Amino acid sequence: MFDDLLERLGLASVNSGACDAGWIERPGGEVIRSVNPATGESLAEVVMASVDDYQRIVERSCEAFVKWRQVPAPKRGEVVRQLGVALRERKRDLGLLVTLETGKIRSEGEGEVQEMIDMCDFAVGLSRQLHGLTIASERPLHRMMEQWHPLGPVGIITAFNFPVAVWAWNAALAAVCGDSMIWKPSPETPLTAIAVQKIVNEVADANDCAGVFSLAVGGANDVGESLIQDPRLPLISATGSCRMGARVAEVVARRMGRSLLELGGNNAIIVTPSADLELALRGTLFAAVGTAGQRCTTVRRLIVHESLIETVIERLKRSFASLRIGNPWDDGVLMGPLINERAVETMRQALESAVAQGGTVLYGGKRLPRPGFFVEPALVRAEPGMPIVGEETFAPILYVLSYSTLDEAISIQNSVAQGLTSAIFTNDLRESEQFLSVEGSDCGIANVNIGTSGAEIGGAFGGEKATGGGREAGSDAWKTYMRRQTCTVNRGSDLPLAQGVKFDTEHSMT
Ligand code: NAD
Repeated sequence: MFDDLLERLGLASVNSGACDAGWIERPGGEVIRSVNPATGESLAEVVMASVDDYQRIVERSCEAFVKWRQVPAPKRGEVVRQLGVALRERKRDLGLLVTLETGKIRSEGEGEVQEMIDMCDFAVGLSRQLHGLTIASERPLHRMMEQWHPLGPVGIITAFNFPVAVWAWNAALAAVCGDSMIWKPSPETPLTAIAVQKIVNEVADANDCAGVFSLAVGGANDVGESLIQDPRLPLISATGSCRMGARVAEVVARRMGRSLLELGGNNAIIVTPSADLELALRGTLFAAVGTAGQRCTTVRRLIVHESLIETVIERLKRSFASLRIGNPWDDGVLMGPLINERAVETMRQALESAVAQGGTVLYGGKRLPRPGFFVEPALVRAEPGMPIVGEETFAPILYVLSYSTLDEAISIQNSVAQGLTSAIFTNDLRESEQFLSVEGSDCGIANVNIGTSGAEIGGAFGGEKATGGGREAGSDAWKTYMRRQTCTVNRGSDLPLAQGVKFDTEHSMT
């Protein structure tokens, strides 16, 4: 079944992980295995790019940029439109590959491809709207305007948990903005990246723009470090852990580059006494166990009013117990495996720390006795001051905390280093408005009566504080991929200066 799929997507048993204007047949990097986390079995081998391959890829990307930036933006949009069509045709297969390589359930795998398609559609419209402002000039016979130019080759670093959607958030925008790009995916998910690159290559070849989209599957320390240190890349868009982002921010800032950081979250849901409890429980369940707790937007802290806490705990224990965990491609399964052995061990250690710090495991947390990397989701009664509650453990652990006043709940919510997503379940207008106000949630995303996971692409996506401050996808996120130029034009024969400054050059010029 899976061999056919790999065949259809053009993924033979050994794949090149390096592509500039075409595939580099024998890249010089290490050979890695793509592993199916639901079985622990190898899917295929990938030869990664070496630093030399990376150098070649970036040179081609710089050449491609010089041509691509001259292509009118709506024509660039047409290429992205064709990419959206090609992705529609491969949605099922590519979605299943995402399921195979990451372990997320089929509907989430296909949802990821749908997100890529949505991004293409959004970017096509955007390609006719990359507009700046006109601004009133204080000087007579002058006018001012802002215009936006392509920025340059962009480095795109992605995490394992959204192996294709996050590339599309960046790539669709970068392409219509006139940038070429080099993608460094996570070495945990190289096959999905190669499959996407193959689809992209077909579209790029048909439109004579090979080299605009390139790929370097590589390790963090060789290809990754070369990419972030490379002064030819004016923008590094990096998605991953806060630890990785701190390194990228420092290195890119040192060379005065621009970084767009999408890092870890430690997201919370507040459940107030007026909440629709059925809605709150359903929203919490998806946000807690969807993608086996491996979303940046996964809810990690449930902050429940003291009057409801026992009811909420009992209901969640029942929901966790009835959750179908299993092969992510089977119908009815809602939770698949963790990504690898290390993730299982990290979850075990986090639960051990939680207990040592005074928490109580109310449900789950055990490894399941079957091949692959399956665990039960864990529900833990915790206190806000416990250090482990302040960390993002990339696994399905939900800490339940109680509060008595909304001020206290918001303060608990904002007390962590990260600031990605947040939510409140309430039917009280005053509570929801306080949550959305300046003294409310300090996160990049704040929802009312919706869980923390599952953002639409139309809004700008990203978070504050240790989450990095970047914004991707919709709204005006495109501006990061372009350079802004303020232009002032004088059609008069005088040279008045701004702010009324006098600088009489008449005598010195004669
Ligand atoms: P990770 O930080 O281990 O790796 C992410 C990527 O960074 C990989 O491609 C890795 O090779 C690369 N990398 C690591 N060090 C690097 C370096 N020094 N130079 C260049 N590249 C380097 O993260 P992960 O385990 O793959 O993903 C999980 C993390 O990603 C979680 O913290 C999650 O919250 C976060 N994430 C955030 C978002 C978001 O939009 N905010 C989205 C998805 C995932």
